[in-house]
Amino acid sequence: MWKKLEQSVICRRVFDALESNRNYIHEELIGVPASYLDPKVFSQDDSILNDAPYLTALVNNPNHIGCHTLDSSESFFAGTQEIERELIELCAVDILKSKPFECDGYVASGGTEANIQAIWIYRNYFMQKYNAEHRKITILCSEHSHYSMDKAANLLNISIHKVATNQDTHSIDPDALKNVIDQAKENGAEYFIVVANMMTTMFGSVDDVDLYAAELESASVLFKVHVDGAYGGFYYSFSNPENTLNFANKHVNSVTLDAHKMAQAPYGTGIFLIRKGYMQYATTKEASYVEGEDSTLIGSRSGANAISIWMILSKYGPNGWMEKIFILQKRTDWLCEKLNEQKVVYYRNPCSNIVTIKSSFVNPSLVTQFGLVPDNHSAPKWYKIVVMDHVTIEKIQPFLEQMTMSMITL
Ligand SMILES: *Cc1c(COP(=O)(O)O)cnc(C)c1O
Repeated sequence: MWKKLEQSVICRRVFDALESNRNYIHEELIGVPASYLDPKVFSQDDSILNDAPYLTALVNNPNHIGCHTLDSSESFFAGTQEIERELIELCAVDILKSKPFECDGYVASGGTEANIQAIWIYRNYFMQKYNAEHRKITILCSEHSHYSMDKAANLLNISIHKVATNQDTHSIDPDALKNVIDQAKENGAEYFIVVANMMTTMFGSVDDVDLYAAELESASVLFKVHVDGAYGGFYYSFSNPENTLNFANKHVNSVTLDAHKMAQAPYGTGIFLIRKGYMQYATTKEASYVEGEDSTLIGSRSGANAISIWMILSKYGPNGWMEKIFILQKRTDWLCEKLNEQKVVYYRNPCSNIVTIKSSFVNPSLVTQFGLVPDNHSAPKWYKIVVMDHVTIEKIQPFLEQMTMSMITL
């Protein structure tokens, strides 16, 4: 599905899609509680917008409410919904190894929403299919999992059990996993919602889905696995193509990707993907004024977000994206070589662009100057560097020099 497209083709596709939406100016549309952006405030000057498909989409302001991979959805915005549908299929098939047309999904507000959406669906699945009580359903994830899992537990009134991680790899520890599953069962848990990390926020560490699956199978409990690829989805899928955190693995049922983390998309570009047959567990039948009802957590959302991700991926194409990740990997390798020379203690998953340095090696003045991010603002044990597009060797070099200087004076 995924092809590199010329800029002119990308432009034409987006403008055509916007034309296929119902038009507030040229048509007799008087029933929708929505319009284009206020022209007194937001310029709608053709000379600015003619070559700017994303800005035009923002100004036209299509609402992508609902999930468009299901049977029917709001017909007013059918043109741009088609781009979102294509994007979802591209991510599921070309990035996450699903067979064609076997996944549903939508562009969510972010990774937080996509993770909560997954856990909401599985909670309802266990409740509806197995008559499970809240107290028998639990979230199982790592101590380094993103705090959106704690939000989900709180909102959905289910418990959460966290697995300690291995000191060296920062991914789930097999012995700790066994113990936590036993503990959860003692606490009354019978249904497990697993969230496996494809790069954690702090360490870029990666969990072993098959380890989770094997332990839960041997514990004879029911479980569903969600992969949190908010950080890593657009990176690790390419830096480690042999990984098993995708739909080629029968245990993986849904995945979160965030285009606004590693893919340099505007905020509001989380992506939720799930095997067909599950979205319905989050359908709100009471959403009767929305055509096709609503199976998403968010409600109204901008169609421009889906368009922005589609434009980014179409501009690069699969080979261009591989090259982009390849360059970031090389730069991260270079940084780690220098840290090794200085005998600095740090963690890096070999397929990640996150380098997390032990705080004792970093002078506090460098933290502010170089905008390093701590694991914990009150008592930092680690600081991380994330090698993004703008984090060039020219910017890393002065940091290394100053770190070496401060280590000598220490
Ligand atoms: C950032 C992040 C999230 C949350 O994503 P938002 O887009 O900030 O809501 C979830 N999981 C991981 C691993 C993340 O890094």
